[in-house]
Amino acid sequence: MRLQVSAATDVGQVRNVNEDGSLVDEPLGLIAVADGVGGHRAGEVASATALEALRAALRSGRSLREAIEEANEAVFTKSLSDEEFRGMGTTLTAGTMAAGGTFIVGHVGDSRAYLLRDGEFRQLTTDHSRVQELVDDGRLTADEAAVHPMRNVITRALGMDATVDVDIYPIQLEPGDRVLFCSDGLTGMLRDDLVGAELRRDADLSRVAARLVDAANSAGGEDNITVVVASVTAEEAPRVEAPLVVPVAEPVRDEPDTIYDEPRRPRGRTRRVGRVLVWVIPVLLILGIAVGAIAWYARNNYYVGAHRGRVTVYQGVPGGLLVWDPTIDRRTNLSLSDLRPVDAADVRAERTFSSRDDADAYVRRIRSRAPNPPGTTTTTTIPTTTTTTLPVTTTAPPLFPPPPESTPVPGP
Ligand code: MN
Repeated sequence: MRLQVSAATDVGQVRNVNEDGSLVDEPLGLIAVADGVGGHRAGEVASATALEALRAALRSGRSLREAIEEANEAVFTKSLSDEEFRGMGTTLTAGTMAAGGTFIVGHVGDSRAYLLRDGEFRQLTTDHSRVQELVDDGRLTADEAAVHPMRNVITRALGMDATVDVDIYPIQLEPGDRVLFCSDGLTGMLRDDLVGAELRRDADLSRVAARLVDAANSAGGEDNITVVVASVTAEEAPRVEAPLVVPVAEPVRDEPDTIYDEPRRPRGRTRRVGRVLVWVIPVLLILGIAVGAIAWYARNNYYVGAHRGRVTVYQGVPGGLLVWDPTIDRRTNLSLSDLRPVDAADVRAERTFSSRDDADAYVRRIRSRAPNPPGTTTTTTIPTTTTTTLPVTTTAPPLFPPPPESTPVPGP
């Protein structure tokens, strides 16, 4: 069983300090999220202290429960050492990979662990919070709890006392599973179904992590946001010693931040057929990916240039790339002579953009700077009903006239 991991954190839209912490330790097979609380920067100190102590204890062979108890002692001791740290604490949700694909989750506080399996997304941990108690008693629904004014009040944290009660959840992982650890800055802003949808949406874990953080920020970002996402794959296929002749440079891919796995099994014997396919298939794959990447690049760029004296948005790259020629995306009614000379020169130089929106925004900018923009018509509307006033409405011209037929463009 193999775990790929990607992590992301952000201070959010409201706070000045990020008091969340996360930890990914390959050799230990460890992932963790901690959300510190305390005055000034004490919360930051609490989460960092807990994560460091957790790692040290696991390194010296402690079980996950013992390691979290030691992390608690470390935060508690530190909180007594300095007036500034008085009363500080932290949540901690940590998972370690054990033999045979068993994943052990240890948990204190209201950070969370989730599991996505066969499309079903569910919370593994139970929050140690006041609203969770009310939900358990049937006095609040989960939806009411999500917006309850006491939703930030936690009932258990590291550093509050010399001892702590740790919840332990052993989970048998399966290939294809995805695991999410997060602070309440994510789940306080997004409903579970949205979080689950983001986790399902993309094969690339670093994009999943970034999108989750972005979504929480877009929803208000009222707290620090931290996510650690992991995906479980079957054991790596045995490696083959056939020489790999690669005629083209390998395309750049987004690699997951971290990959760790259990010790590999001894290699099996390789049959001759396998040996031939083993290098033919990668070569074809790499060629395919390279051609695909060029095609994608050639079509998914936009540039603004001139066509018959008019500012024109093209799809493609100037001059084309291999067999992919640029096409006119939209022609505007803006002439080069309408523009400031500096903008006209810029358009002649064919500025490129990575999206149509960016290209459109650029056209709007140079139009707004133009000393003499064309086609600004003022329409006076006289209502048919009897009235004493004549309302005057100004209709802005459409940015672009109707698109022409999408013809390939001959070179300039
Ligand atoms: Mn928080």
